[in-house]
Amino acid sequence: MADPKLISNVPEGPLKDKWSKRKSSIRVVSPNNKRKLEIIVVGTGLGGASAAASLGEMGYNVKIFCISDSPRRAHSIAAQGGINAAKNYQNDNDSVSRLFFDTVKGGDYRSREANVYRLAEVSAAIIDQCVAQGVPFAREYGGYLANRSFGGVQVSRTFYARGQTGQQLLLGAYASLNKEIAAGTVKSYPRHEMLDLVIINGEAKGIIARNLVTGEIERFGAHAVVLATGGYGNTYFLSTNAMNSNGSAAMQAYRKGAFFANPCFAQIHPTCIPVHGDQQCKLTLMSESLRNDGRIWVPKKKEDVMKLRKHEIKPSQIPEEDRDYYLERRYPAFGNLVPRDVASRAAKERCDAGFGVNETGLAVFLDFADAIKRLGHQRVEERYGNLFQMYEKITSTSPWEEPMMIYPAIHYTMGGLWVDYDLQTTIPGLYAIGEANFSDHGGNRLGASALMQGLADGYFILPYTIGNYLSHKFSEPKTDTNAPEFEEAEKAVKERIAKLFAVKGTETVDSIHKKLGHIMWEYVGMARNEAGLKKAIVEIGKLREEFWKNVRVPGTNEEFNQELEKALRLVDFFDIGELMARDALNRRESCGGHFREEMQTEEGETKRDDENFMYVAAWEYKGEGKEPELHKEELKYENIKIVTRNYKD
Ligand SMILES: Cc1cc2nc3c(=O)[nH]c(=O)nc-3n(C[C@H](O)[C@H](O)[C@H](O)COP(=O)(O)OP(=O)(O)OC[C@H]3O[C@@H](n4cnc5c(N)ncnc54)[C@H](O)[C@@H]3O)c2cc1C
Repeated sequence: MADPKLISNVPEGPLKDKWSKRKSSIRVVSPNNKRKLEIIVVGTGLGGASAAASLGEMGYNVKIFCISDSPRRAHSIAAQGGINAAKNYQNDNDSVSRLFFDTVKGGDYRSREANVYRLAEVSAAIIDQCVAQGVPFAREYGGYLANRSFGGVQVSRTFYARGQTGQQLLLGAYASLNKEIAAGTVKSYPRHEMLDLVIINGEAKGIIARNLVTGEIERFGAHAVVLATGGYGNTYFLSTNAMNSNGSAAMQAYRKGAFFANPCFAQIHPTCIPVHGDQQCKLTLMSESLRNDGRIWVPKKKEDVMKLRKHEIKPSQIPEEDRDYYLERRYPAFGNLVPRDVASRAAKERCDAGFGVNETGLAVFLDFADAIKRLGHQRVEERYGNLFQMYEKITSTSPWEEPMMIYPAIHYTMGGLWVDYDLQTTIPGLYAIGEANFSDHGGNRLGASALMQGLADGYFILPYTIGNYLSHKFSEPKTDTNAPEFEEAEKAVKERIAKLFAVKGTETVDSIHKKLGHIMWEYVGMARNEAGLKKAIVEIGKLREEFWKNVRVPGTNEEFNQELEKALRLVDFFDIGELMARDALNRRESCGGHFREEMQTEEGETKRDDENFMYVAAWEYKGEGKEPELHKEELKYENIKIVTRNYKD
């Protein structure tokens, strides 16, 4: 029986009619009533910016918040490789059904069928919208938009703007947002960090935010709140995410009653520049698009590995017959374009077996020699020029001469706030979009599908579905920020800040965060097991205690204080880390990016347990120091045949 607290609100009827059916049943708010309604959008990445611009254009009063000094500096700007859409421009037999199928399969059958179908359905409209905004997508000679391939698919459906797709898409959304800001329908609050969610009579009615420049704690009310605050990959300290990416807003919502879904589903990206020291605070992604033409290999012979590590030979000196193109060998049908989780585990397997090619033994090669020979310097430069430049600047090695060295790193989080088909959380009036929700990617996200999902949510789904909730609210007065619930939330935030300053210990926030990162990577990373996960929960608890005894937060609240910002976020990372470990412990199966060592095939592939784990794990907060309660949303696949993922043939 369905959990009464997890009603997904997926419309009845055939899959391909569900979204049309839902749209036609959504109540519409008339233009004169939209003017009376206020919406808070937290986050200005592709999810938040597209939603706020659309809602503003529709006539709602929108307030938008972000941590950075300008909305256009959100983490989305880092996205490199591209955005998927089922346009079939290459005439390679792509379709909505194929994109739907690839995404469900790529997610290892742990996502909600109806949501994924809708995502595939609206994908084409996103490209049209962005082209109309002037996004400079790459084009073919004849003027058509160009496409390339990403992992886990056999067609070319990824639209791109060199290696700067996120930046160009965000500039498009930001231009639309600015139009609304100028028109007065959107008011922008940069450098404002949400520190709590305010609930009145069980509904989301506003937020408490800290002005990051002055330290002032401010109250903001609305008829509904939308969280577009991104993912929680930085729990691991080192990740490819922007330094400001965090999971705090989601945690604040969780503590106020929003369920957190599938927290253990974190994506480890196979092509990142390897860790090169203990003083690093960031890892750099080398876009997945590089796997279109780059070939991944390690030497076949251990002697060559040793010589490479001692810099006695160069990789280009190793003859072809002594190279192991292990992805092409193990997965002939997809080769270097297997999904990220598969490619990451395969790299780990080779490095664990002693074939890692750098001093730490944690790197494999990504080689362009063949591509340069086949396509010529100019074509490769056109496709990947800025990525090559970035690699050379960071490592001082030219990928034109020697292969890149890469290793997997934390990159994206598929888990997030549980949302229904309308993208509403378990708190009425609170919505979550983009990477902040759990909705579409199951156990593993396919490359170029995050931008698609963020923009689908923001431009084409939320602006419609939120109307259904707001159509009952236009006669309600503006939210009174003097209400006791705001008073209480503001007091709690001020106390939290005061408590942090009061510790006056000796350890920096970063040094403790780094320790959390080590625990997470060691026990909740690429391979997990029962003993390690139990240990992680204990170790995180101890580290949390150490933090509250010994952290030092310098300065005061009444100033621009990034140490304070980081400390506030780290408090939430402890809770997220613990929840991730708890969820991973519960999920006694391997699926997607979640690899339980106890559950693997003889060939070392993931072994799902569909009978017992074909559900979304949604966790309910039960109070500080108490174990959260697990709720299950059963997943039903009525339109897709469930199979074991196979990228071999
Ligand atoms: C290096 C890199 C490359 C990538 N390349 C691709 C790609 O090519 N294709 C693809 O599909 N995906 C890619 N991804 C993934 C994709 O970029 C992200 O999943 C996506 O951009 C997330 O968008 P978002 O709008 O959900 O959140 P974000 O872009 O992360 O934005 C979050 C926003 O929330 C704000 N915020 C957060 N917390 C608070 C708070 N408490 N108060 C106020 N504001 C807050 C932030 O300031 C920011 O404005 C890449 C990711 C990385 C790290």
